[in-house]
Amino acid sequence: MTAEFAGNQQLIEILYLVASVLFILSLKWLSAPSTARRGVLAGEIGMVLAIAGTLLHHGIVDYKWIAIALVLGSGIGVPLGLVQMTAVPQRTALSHAFGALCVTLVGTSEFYLRTPDVPRFMMAVLSMEVILASLTFTGSLMAAGKLQEVLPQRPITYRGQNFVNLGVLAIAIVVAVFLVLHPGAKELFPIMIVVPLIFGVLMIVPIGGADMPTVISLLNSYAGLSAAAMGFVLNSKLLIIAGALDGSSGFILSVIMSKAMNRSFTNVLFGAFGQVQASTAGAKEDKVVRSATPDEAAGILAAANRVVVVPGYGMAVAQAQHKVRELYDALTKRGVDVRFAIHPVAGRMPGHMNVLLAEADVPYDKLMEMDDINSDFPQTDVALVIGANDVTNPAARTDQSSPIFGMPILDVDKARTVMVIKRSMNPGFAGIDNPLYYLDRTLMLFGDAKSFVNSIVHELAGNTH
Ligand code: NDP
Repeated sequence: MTAEFAGNQQLIEILYLVASVLFILSLKWLSAPSTARRGVLAGEIGMVLAIAGTLLHHGIVDYKWIAIALVLGSGIGVPLGLVQMTAVPQRTALSHAFGALCVTLVGTSEFYLRTPDVPRFMMAVLSMEVILASLTFTGSLMAAGKLQEVLPQRPITYRGQNFVNLGVLAIAIVVAVFLVLHPGAKELFPIMIVVPLIFGVLMIVPIGGADMPTVISLLNSYAGLSAAAMGFVLNSKLLIIAGALDGSSGFILSVIMSKAMNRSFTNVLFGAFGQVQASTAGAKEDKVVRSATPDEAAGILAAANRVVVVPGYGMAVAQAQHKVRELYDALTKRGVDVRFAIHPVAGRMPGHMNVLLAEADVPYDKLMEMDDINSDFPQTDVALVIGANDVTNPAARTDQSSPIFGMPILDVDKARTVMVIKRSMNPGFAGIDNPLYYLDRTLMLFGDAKSFVNSIVHELAGNTH
């Protein structure tokens, strides 16, 4: 019996160790488009091993409820995994909400199982676990609601809001400190859950819907930290490792996103950025733009030697990536050098453009990061912007009064000719006008990205025959 128990324990430890290694490799591989698929697979295998190890645990006496939970979880998880690419940010937020709810419930049961004999360190970690997890639960639900437009996207602000919010959080922290000193005061424990649940809602209210992806990646980091704290409570090294990886990678991602938008964390969290959209979207002037038809655009592209395609959110909305791939093929066949310039925050989630173009089998070596391609624009014959706007806005370089001033952009305005596919003169995410459209060298190609690119491809095919 003892030997069997020891053997089981050893097997669990081995499964956990392999799972941890796979999680680390997964993150490493996910950081480059060419290895990203392998990264996803490694993460999936790691998770299966982690679940298998947990199911072998000697504490499990009956698998009935576990089986029910497995069926229920798969029933929710599979449809969630099949959502459209543009809905991935809110889908991710929902996953965080479920994870955080689970951590809160585990923390609660551990407290009531152990009280009043909870050592101070354990109580401190447990408090951190439930506070972070509870606020992540409601915060993530709010973020998903805003992104799905079930809740108003507009930031709602009032005087003294940050003071009120931080005051609410302070109540939870004071209760936590009291419980660390007096773990027997179990009647106070529910306060440590309810107050952060309220804080989670209040925290998201002043943040505009468009800032949600950055906030979601921050909530990801909170969920990871709470899981790591749970690892200390349950004495699980795997949870500590996975939670720490999740916590740090989520935090690094939010820093990268904030930097690429030239915004500080405090500006994202307290800046009510979405309000800019309301105040400046209406201020359009009667400036002249030049437009072109698909056959004119095809002629210009066919005559070029070097073309840089700049995809953005509009390409994702139009699902134009496969047509863009056809355009790439048609031009490459004619001997035109075609590359893609990827801005770190193009689209609405990190890596959005890489994922779409990889789905359409655009060769990875043609995807250029912003810092690598920017110096090439002056030697580029045509910069073809497809549904991108803010990430090409030269006001970020030149206009100190612009809300995006300082944000690094793709220098498409330095190309010899710029062509921009979009449906109208409407602004993008930041809600501001784009001076790029009024340059002499710019041609606007008005239309839906997918159908316009399709028309260009047809024109190019027609010219060949
Ligand atoms: P933008 O939101 O600036 O612009 C997208 C443009 O696409 C719009 O101007 C719109 O113009 C056009 N568009 C929409 N639908 C279509 C369609 N069917 N066919 C053709 N065009 C279309 O996108 P960018 O990618 O340039 O910039 C991303 C923005 O999102 C940045 O401001 C960034 O800071 C922000 N952001 C990005 C995050 C990320 O992780 N990637 C996270 C949070 C914010 P029109 O309506 O005229 O067609």
